Amino acid sequence: MDTTPLRRVALVTGANRGIGEAIARALATTGDHLVVVGARSLAAAETTATAIGSDAFGVQLDVTDASSVLAAVAEVERRAGRVDVLVNNAGGHYDSGTVASEVSDADALDALEVNLLGPWRMIAAVVPAMRANGWGRIVNVSSRSGTFSATWSDAPAYGVSKAALNMLTLQLASELRGTGVLVNACCPGWVRTEMGGAGADKSVEEGADTPVWLATLPDDGETGGFWGERQRIPW
Ligand code: NDP
Repeated sequence: MDTTPLRRVALVTGANRGIGEAIARALATTGDHLVVVGARSLAAAETTATAIGSDAFGVQLDVTDASSVLAAVAEVERRAGRVDVLVNNAGGHYDSGTVASEVSDADALDALEVNLLGPWRMIAAVVPAMRANGWGRIVNVSSRSGTFSATWSDAPAYGVSKAALNMLTLQLASELRGTGVLVNACCPGWVRTEMGGAGADKSVEEGADTPVWLATLPDDGETGGFWGERQRIPW
């Protein structure tokens, strides 16, 4: 009998830089993952995958483009067989310095496209096979900007889109309870990236810690939670 542990295939969106790159790198170094670096630019995806090493390859993936999402998942299935782990890390439209009453339709839609509909498209593309396989991990990289327990008047389009991503997490976790697919959201903390800025208090490795922990939960791990620093945080 072959007792070799199954090598999981992990797809990380927005993995060419920032927290996503650190998540991809950490999953590859756990040794039991084949990591797929998703990035809007195929060249950037391949550069990052090459830097990570033989446990990674890159795919072109723009989460706001439905055909790009379907093509990327099909390519992963062709090259690696399946997607076991999805880390919805790609995000943007951090509209700090703006107030809710002044957000245009275009800005609200832009934030929802990248932070809500993008992850939702990814989920729709991978869940049928995860369900059929009876195993999966989905991690939505959200933000404390989207919590109802602590609100402030800043980054409104971003915060609303992350709150919606949190509700999507809860809905999906309820739908998939008992199927072997665990679904969680997390806030990485304030991290030194293009989005977080140079003054943030965490390195990208520290920001990646909770998403990686959620991506590697054991079969009896939690589902339907919102996490920061590996602890439950209020929605
Ligand atoms: P960065 O701005 O440094 O990186 C964002 C990544 O997302 C890039 O790889 C970017 O690709 C990619 N991306 C943006 N739009 C798309 C798209 N349409 N399709 C695919 N990829 C896309 O951000 P961080 O690393 O800081 O953030 C990662 C996640 O963490 C985000 O979801 C963010 O909201 C969340 N977060 C970050 C915090 C922080 O302090 N940094 C705090 C709380 C949450 P490209 O290079 O092509 O632009």
